[in-house]
Amino acid sequence: MLSLVIPIYNEIYLINELVSRIVKAIELFTTDYEIIFVDDGSTDGSLPALLSFYQENEHIKVLCLSKNFGHQPAFTAGLEYSKGDIIAMMDGDLQDPPELLADMFRKIQADGFDIVSGKRTGRKGKSPRNLYTWMFHLLFGSVAGLINIENTGNYSMMTRDALNAMLSMKEKNRYLPGLRSFIGYKHGFVEYIRDDRYNGKSKMSFYKLMILATDAIFAFSRFPIRFCMILGMMGTIVFMVAGMYVLIAKIFGFAIIGWSSTLLSIYFLGSVQLIFMGIVGEYVYRIYKESQNRPLYFVKKFHSRQID
Ligand code: UDP
Ligand code: MG
Repeated sequence: MLSLVIPIYNEIYLINELVSRIVKAIELFTTDYEIIFVDDGSTDGSLPALLSFYQENEHIKVLCLSKNFGHQPAFTAGLEYSKGDIIAMMDGDLQDPPELLADMFRKIQADGFDIVSGKRTGRKGKSPRNLYTWMFHLLFGSVAGLINIENTGNYSMMTRDALNAMLSMKEKNRYLPGLRSFIGYKHGFVEYIRDDRYNGKSKMSFYKLMILATDAIFAFSRFPIRFCMILGMMGTIVFMVAGMYVLIAKIFGFAIIGWSSTLLSIYFLGSVQLIFMGIVGEYVYRIYKESQNRPLYFVKKFHSRQID
């Protein structure tokens, strides 16, 4: 059986199109499937719309979370409730063409891949969002030390074994594409050009995207801590040179009695230390979150015919 997991947060304007396109795309290659829509606390009527599809189509299930927990926890919830032998995850805004599911499925079944990720070879549209997504992928790709990660997002399909491996990592600050690459296994790709979203506005605000990017970088690289070290070392060298200059100036009597250089270095050192404390704070915050060990999400109700 194939499980397809799709998180939904206020997507009322595209649910009809979404459901008809994915059902059509999936039924081309299998009739044994479930689609789990995870309602991530929608407030715009997405849930009633999903429930009416649930009434009509026995393959559709709806997992209602108790409030908005965010994109990655919503995916995790859907994945944990999935029952399939092959599991796919896809955003609900039709930026990722559902027609590729057939290729992914074939690669797993016929070519023996454990994971197949969608690789974006380009993006339609010219929003600033595309620019900072591109910048994130460039930075993350070079610092994370992961393979099979460049230009991939959540859109992917994997076997039950690979999913179990991925879900065995219980960290609270989750970046699923990173976890998916971390586990290894035989990893293939299907390439595509990423569309603009079909309708409505992005549900990932700039702030949410920034948090996701920081989570990814902190979870998969030592870059922030290295950055502190390198900046600290560079600062030390600069101050050793400056110190030598001051000493020489003193000895040879051309030192200028001034406060501006003193003041500047105090400001400079003060702000560098604040940045460092901020970075260390990010780590402490993450350790704190892990030690609280709160569940990632709460489920209000799982609408599924197997349980009803
Ligand atoms: N989403 C969600 N919870 C959130 C934000 C987004 O479940 O808090 C869903 C959203 O409905 C969509 C998917 O996650 O199906 C991706 O969101 P979006 O397209 O807005 O993100 P973007 O592509 O702009 O990064
Ligand atoms: Mg989107």
